[in-house]
Amino acid sequence: MQPIHIIGAGLAGSEAAWQIAEAGVPVVLHEMRPKVETFAHRTGDCAEMVCSNSFRSDDDQMNAVGQLHWEMRAANGLIMRMADQHRLPAGGALAVDRDAFSNAVSEVLRAHPLIEIRGEEITDLPSEGNWIVATGPLTSAALGQSIQSLTGADSLAFFDAIAPIVHADSIDMSICWLQSRYDKGETEEERTAYINCPMTREDYEAFIDALLAADKAEFREGETAGYFDGCLPIEVMAERGRETLRHGPMKPVGLTNAHKPSEKAYAVVQLRRDNALGTLYNIVGFQTKMKYGAQTEVFKRIPGLQNASFARLGGIHRNTFLNSPTLIDDRLRLRLRPNLRFAGQVTGVEGYVESAAMGLLAGRMAAAEALGHDLPPPPLTTSMGALVNHITGGAEAKTFQPMNVNFGLYPPLEDIKGGRRGRKNRYPAYTDRAKADFNSWLAAQG
Ligand SMILES: Cc1cc2nc3c(=O)[nH]c(=O)nc-3n(C[C@H](O)[C@H](O)[C@H](O)COP(=O)(O)OP(=O)(O)OC[C@H]3O[C@@H](n4cnc5c(N)ncnc54)[C@H](O)[C@@H]3O)c2cc1C
Repeated sequence: MQPIHIIGAGLAGSEAAWQIAEAGVPVVLHEMRPKVETFAHRTGDCAEMVCSNSFRSDDDQMNAVGQLHWEMRAANGLIMRMADQHRLPAGGALAVDRDAFSNAVSEVLRAHPLIEIRGEEITDLPSEGNWIVATGPLTSAALGQSIQSLTGADSLAFFDAIAPIVHADSIDMSICWLQSRYDKGETEEERTAYINCPMTREDYEAFIDALLAADKAEFREGETAGYFDGCLPIEVMAERGRETLRHGPMKPVGLTNAHKPSEKAYAVVQLRRDNALGTLYNIVGFQTKMKYGAQTEVFKRIPGLQNASFARLGGIHRNTFLNSPTLIDDRLRLRLRPNLRFAGQVTGVEGYVESAAMGLLAGRMAAAEALGHDLPPPPLTTSMGALVNHITGGAEAKTFQPMNVNFGLYPPLEDIKGGRRGRKNRYPAYTDRAKADFNSWLAAQG
């Protein structure tokens, strides 16, 4: 049997390779790293997580991304299995030890008898054979040009962000304390997964002043075209209003200062564990376009971080994605050339989990086709189905922007109350329906 080729062994390409091979179809996985590097990846491993070490909420009742986790686990997903094996305590979130995780994914793929990994950059879109393009937000320039010359559509650019990482032993724990918001989590480790830095009103005002005055790297003209609100730099949030951060990543709710339980913090900066050893912590939500010198100066104003040593400073970078609603069909094929499928962030989904989910789907669809079947997408009522529907037709093509999975993509349930108040009943009803429908979709594949 002819192999299916995949370009890119990131979150999507790795999952696609696994799904295809598990269906009994041979795969050739082409990965340019480490020969050709990107600015964000550090290794030559498969499925490297370039920024946060979190797969976000693991709550499959009340959260659409948690439901997506559930669907990927149900569909024999490799990324979720390895994430579960290398999980770190993080309250209700699924955080992983990134190096152990990507090493494990690489090992499993290398060991699979039907998978061959080739260390090479593909610079042109192939005209023959079955291919999946999973080259991600940092698709190499040559291949990006080849895609553009075929599709004629402009790739859009928006910003994604790296939050700074701090060495744990440089954090002053006589000021900070360990606690997950609302003490969420099954175990003591999970309930204490975050380091919290409390701010008084004066600390907060001084911090905002410093942030507004700090030296920032300039955005190039037109670069802000694809900006999206989930990933705003902290200085931009501060520019929008002095209180914005206090209602966003620095909100003080659900936390009690262990050193001064009767004192309510005016704002709190949270740091989340970044490796299994617990030696590194990232500052949650603190993506920034401040220059490096300014970052250290501003972040050291945070109580508890006055002596912080940074393992990595923050940054904001370019991302590449297709105008999928016009270019891709619901089998993730390029309409112009159906022997090419696209998967992952390049399709206009956003995030590790969503990218891996589109890899899972593209892999299953490509394998089914190679075996002589047609695999329809999962029902709209599932997280995976809602997402693929959005990018391949549900979204407005003219204003198409990358999308995270969320309940807003789900078809509404009749007879269930809308609005904030209705969530308590609505979300579990969504996820119960999603599980039943996803199971039926899986069962139909035999
Ligand atoms: C700086 C940055 C920070 C991010 N932070 C987060 C975050 O915190 N949380 C989150 O959920 N998501 C984050 N993202 C988005 C994240 O990259 C994606 O969600 C996810 O990695 C996309 O998976 P993917 O498989 O589509 O792409 P990737 O994981 O990037 O994989 C694509 C692979 O293709 C390879 N490749 C590219 N071009 C070629 C070629 N021509 N030939 C061969 N191989 C090629 C690359 O080397 C790479 O290994 C971030 C992205 C960037 C750029």
